[in-house]
Amino acid sequence: MKCCDDPKFKLIEELGHTEGVDWDLGRCLSCGSYLLQQWSEYRPLNVFLDKLTEEEGAQFLRSEGRARRQLLRNWYNDH
Ligand SMILES: [Zn+2]
Repeated sequence: MKCCDDPKFKLIEELGHTEGVDWDLGRCLSCGSYLLQQWSEYRPLNVFLDKLTEEEGAQFLRSEGRARRQLLRNWYNDH
């Protein structure tokens, strides 16, 4: 789900590639929320934005390596 009517994604960090999806963490320049951008190599025209809470955004930012991939996998399975 998007954060607001006019989301503007500003990249903070590329989170990598897992589950066939490219994941980028950013913030919305319109409302300031953390955003998770998802892009699939199989459907390159579809870019999805999900709003994250401050806590979720910080968790992604702090994560590394396997823990980060696990977080992304969990997100993928839950959404
Ligand atoms: Zn927004």
